Amino acid sequence: QQNELSMVYQPKVDLRTMKVCSMEALIRWNNSALGFVPPDEFITIAEQAGLIEQVTTWVMQQTIADLAYFRAKGYEFTVAMNLSTQDIQNKVLLRKLVALLTQEGLSPEALELEITESDLVADASLAIENLNELTARGFHFAIDDFGTGYSSLAYLKNLPVTTIKIDKSFVMKLADDENDQQIVHTVLSLANVFGLSVVAEGVEDEGALRLLKDWGCDYLQGYFISKPLTVDKLEDWLTSCRYYH
Ligand code: C2E
Ligand code: CA
Ligand code: CA
Repeated sequence: QQNELSMVYQPKVDLRTMKVCSMEALIRWNNSALGFVPPDEFITIAEQAGLIEQVTTWVMQQTIADLAYFRAKGYEFTVAMNLSTQDIQNKVLLRKLVALLTQEGLSPEALELEITESDLVADASLAIENLNELTARGFHFAIDDFGTGYSSLAYLKNLPVTTIKIDKSFVMKLADDENDQQIVHTVLSLANVFGLSVVAEGVEDEGALRLLKDWGCDYLQGYFISKPLTVDKLEDWLTSCRYYH
């Protein structure tokens, strides 16, 4: 029931300029019987049921159509799309992604792809081969949920990854939690050594923003800036917020 699916977009802000630079595309499913089903729940189920290719195909079509719309309206931000474990190993699906972008006359630079650490640990060699292929075509990858898995920054050094996203579990209470502060500060120092950009997700207050700025974080995402919004609401938000223009 694809008419029950929709995409929402959450802004990412560049901490140096405090302006919107990107939008993360997040899927929503409103089922007639179940009501709202959280995406992390149904994505996991779709993976287990062998349905993830269909879900991701829908996400790719909708997100790229929206990206084309944003470009037509003169918006310059990039759009970030989430890929799941199985997607990274699916060459047919990844070729579809390239074809969709080409059809719309968009370049890979307009898109960022977010993948989690576990995706790479699962079948490292095939995943890395696919990442390298897409990187050669101009795609950029971010490691999502950084800090929740087992891989280290030293391991990421060998991957074509330009960005890490510190998981929101370390960021949401950053202003009050000394353990989180230590973890986030250390990740930012190391990322700097390895030349990686860092996005902090789950920024909910100004206290977290200040610490992240002091420690050299590059990008912010979280309810403090905006919750994920439908395209309509996003355009309204862009006209009135202080993070654009
Ligand atoms: P994620 O990729 O780590 O996405 C960030 C999640 O944090 C989103 O939840 C977002 O709404 C939420 N978030 C952002 N800022 C804040 C904040 O300040 N406070 C709090 N409490 N939460 C914040 P969402 O939309 O429920 O998505 C959950 C997960 O579902 C995503 O985690 C991602 O792993 C997965 N997901 C969502 N859309 C897609 C998709 O299109 N494809 C795939 N494969 N996975 C998706
Ligand atoms: Ca993500
Ligand atoms: Ca996360």
